[in-house]
Amino acid sequence: MDLELVTIGTELLLGFTVDTNGAEIGRALAAAGIRVVRRTSVGDDGATVAAAVREALARTGAVLCTGGLGPTRDDVTKRSVAGLFGRALRFDDAIWAELEARFARLGRRPAAANRCQAEVPEGAVVLPNRWGTAPGIWLEGAPGLAILLPGVPREMRGLLEHEVLPRLAGRGDPSAAIRSRQLRTTGIAESSLAERVAGAEEALAPLTLAYLPGVEGVDLRLTAWRLPAEEAERRLAEGIAWLRARAARHAYAEGDQDLAAVLLGRLRAQGWTLGVAESCTGGMLGARITGVAGSSDVFMGGTIAYANRVKEAALGVPAETLASHGAVSEPVARAMAEGARARHGVDCALAITGIAGPGGGTAEKPVGTIWLAAATPQGTSAERIAVPGDRDEIRRRGAQAALYLLWRELDG
Ligand code: ATP
Repeated sequence: MDLELVTIGTELLLGFTVDTNGAEIGRALAAAGIRVVRRTSVGDDGATVAAAVREALARTGAVLCTGGLGPTRDDVTKRSVAGLFGRALRFDDAIWAELEARFARLGRRPAAANRCQAEVPEGAVVLPNRWGTAPGIWLEGAPGLAILLPGVPREMRGLLEHEVLPRLAGRGDPSAAIRSRQLRTTGIAESSLAERVAGAEEALAPLTLAYLPGVEGVDLRLTAWRLPAEEAERRLAEGIAWLRARAARHAYAEGDQDLAAVLLGRLRAQGWTLGVAESCTGGMLGARITGVAGSSDVFMGGTIAYANRVKEAALGVPAETLASHGAVSEPVARAMAEGARARHGVDCALAITGIAGPGGGTAEKPVGTIWLAAATPQGTSAERIAVPGDRDEIRRRGAQAALYLLWRELDG
């Protein structure tokens, strides 16, 4: 089955919103053996939406749209697509009752503008939206199949997984399915990683290997193209094991798991608690850790010690250490980690102090210089890293490297 994607929203064209829906849907459908043959983005304008959907249906007979279903969009998508199928919009009492109930739970009443969300094209299947207010629409008729989903990524994702993919099952070609698995690495440059996994293309063929470098590391993605499901899964599992053996301690997870989650799991298994002392990252490390659901049994808290005064008062870093070595130095990073460990009463503490730029660099300590320290019941280790990028990137790379330092320590 071939299908075209139309993502709707003027903000997509202006570049204020990145079309992540298109990327997610492409991946999910490829895995189901359905080829997305074209993706078009259009603004919130009825005539343009109608033209894009009409052309897509003429080419492939199946189109999936996201966006333009909400109360603020004058229901452009629904009206345009219903028109192409020669269907009128009817008011659906069940959708309206569900909307009223949803608002009532929040102690509110739906606005008049919400009424358009209860309108559906005659003969359409309503796809219930448990994640938001605008239901999805499944419309089949002479022009083909049109699936309309909301633009909000969380709602789109829920409907895609629970309503759309099950309905498309059986229409895809299982032998055309594209399956991928991903290994996450950090603390190693793409070129060095490529050296370590040299020969992968030959050893793992017919799987293909992609390098996906990002601020947090390099992800390695293996893809099986149009292989029988069992063979694809077996080859992918073997391929990941092959890569993992070569990436060694740089490989920390599979899929899209965060290093913070992996580290928390390791600490939890050990029965240890964690605290942080942050200077240049200003709370980023704490945010990464608390971004993991269920982190509260391991993560106790921390200190943002930006000024030397706070490093001294809140973490007990000696004034003379700061004066003689400077705030970005090994002794200060160690004292911050040990101070956090003692003062927050935790088993392990991570400290970061660095120069995020754009100013403040020197020949000896250029922008991107970061000292990290990890204090554990077994002792304190410290590491100096030099990372590239702008201020935001340097701070994000610093937070990742700190998590990696403690993860390696726990790994022995
Ligand atoms: P609503 O009108 O209730 O906001 P909707 O279904 O009409 O919902 P849009 O208004 O088009 O959807 O988009 C809602 C939000 O969802 C946008 O602000 C944008 O952040 C996000 N969004 C829309 N389309 C996409 C897309 N293709 N990729 C990623 N995010 C998107």
